[in-house]
Amino acid sequence: MKAIVYSKALYSTWIYYAPDRILFDCGEGVSTILENKVFAIKHVFLSHGHADHISGLMGLINIRNNAMGDTEKELKIYYPAGNFFVSELISYFARTNRNLKYELEWIPLQPGDKVTLLQGRHARYIEAFATIHSRGETSLGYNVAEVRHRLKPEYRDLPQEEIVRLVREGKKEEITEKYVQYLFSYAGDSVPLNPNLVKGTEVLCHEATFLSDEDRKEFKHSTVWEAIEVAKKAEVQKELILFHISSRYRDELRELERKIEGMGLPFKVRLIPPGEVVEIE
Ligand SMILES: [Zn+2]
Ligand SMILES: [Zn+2]
Repeated sequence: MKAIVYSKALYSTWIYYAPDRILFDCGEGVSTILENKVFAIKHVFLSHGHADHISGLMGLINIRNNAMGDTEKELKIYYPAGNFFVSELISYFARTNRNLKYELEWIPLQPGDKVTLLQGRHARYIEAFATIHSRGETSLGYNVAEVRHRLKPEYRDLPQEEIVRLVREGKKEEITEKYVQYLFSYAGDSVPLNPNLVKGTEVLCHEATFLSDEDRKEFKHSTVWEAIEVAKKAEVQKELILFHISSRYRDELRELERKIEGMGLPFKVRLIPPGEVVEIE
């Protein structure tokens, strides 16, 4: 996985997920920081319409039209259907950006909708799921899902030569089954996710605005500890990325890291320090 993450609660959040050229959310500063890399973006998936997640759209849409790069490459922006703020922006851009050289497409999504990223035997797609954030504001999270194949349970203990023989006899389809693996899950802003929505994902990006429940005035966001609980229940395989951390905790992150290390979790936990661009290899 290769990704670039910027997230500071209230200010700006965006994640560029390089394997599928996806930008998850589009907070301010994204084009300023990514520069010519913005031409690599194929899809933008917006989690909701709060300013800290969409304020970079004006820059992105215009830079893709004017900077040095393939200014004719189309851009698809997906958003939660019925979202008021995004809908208002779409009409603003329709009125003000009449001379775009490329095709800009806005696509509303409902929970459960799928968007194909890659076709074929190892198809990859985005699956949208509902999150709970603020009243009257539709919001979505997204799984990057991959179709994989494995031996059916009854064939798993056979010796390798036997499997090879069956495959040579043209029985590959008969002895294998399809399953779906989530590679990367991004939930945007949300109260703690239902772990079943991201079950078994390799990498979970869960928001963690607060360190403690007392700092949370309204039940709109999650704490670090709730996010870790979600990741445990979801049986995250590789890594939990905690983003949307409030800048009030900037000086407490080292200590927090040590505390988390002491928990002996079965996955890696990465904190995104507010205000820093983090590159993930
Ligand atoms: Zn936010
Ligand atoms: Zn929000």
